[in-house]
Amino acid sequence: MLPLVALVGRPNVGKSTLFNALTRSRDALVHDQPGVTRDRNYGVCRLEPERPFVLVDTGGIAGENTHLETGGLAGATARQARAAADEADLVLFIVDGREGPTALDDELVQWLRKRDRPVLLVVNKTDGIDTRAAMAEFARYGFSDALPVSSAHRQGIDELLAEVVGRL
Ligand code: GDP
Ligand code: MG
Repeated sequence: MLPLVALVGRPNVGKSTLFNALTRSRDALVHDQPGVTRDRNYGVCRLEPERPFVLVDTGGIAGENTHLETGGLAGATARQARAAADEADLVLFIVDGREGPTALDDELVQWLRKRDRPVLLVVNKTDGIDTRAAMAEFARYGFSDALPVSSAHRQGIDELLAEVVGRL
């Protein structure tokens, strides 16, 4: 079985864009509207041909869908996203380097801390901004490892890939 890597992050941080960058597919739904990704979305990353892994783009862990008791599609989506993160060999916690930490990010960090999954902090959207300053804003989360990327511009993707396969 291939290792499983889960993308976790609040809506609109760029999970689907990163998913596409790593799987080079258009399977993941990318949209300007926050929270538009509704389903677990699986793909295989073969950018490192000797070290393929399964990538799951979770949507709906945070935000309106936070509560597991929520019925209907929202609740089902939240439960699926959480299950994906629980099964993962590595969680990539994606944040938005332009917006900095938000209350929803704080919630997700707390949620992740209760898990025993290894987490790598990925600060996305660092194109055209002061990357060092953006990274510093997330230092208070206390993750030992953090990487800046721009999923939209494919910056930092090779470094991220090396870090990911090194941990699997
Ligand atoms: P998701 O809700 O976490 O899946 O986020 P999406 O992948 O749908 O992206 C949300 C928005 O952020 C879209 O408008 C993307 O084009 C934009 N976006 C994603 N990655 C980047 C990036 O690296 N840089 C910039 N500037 N915008 C990005
Ligand atoms: Mg998405």
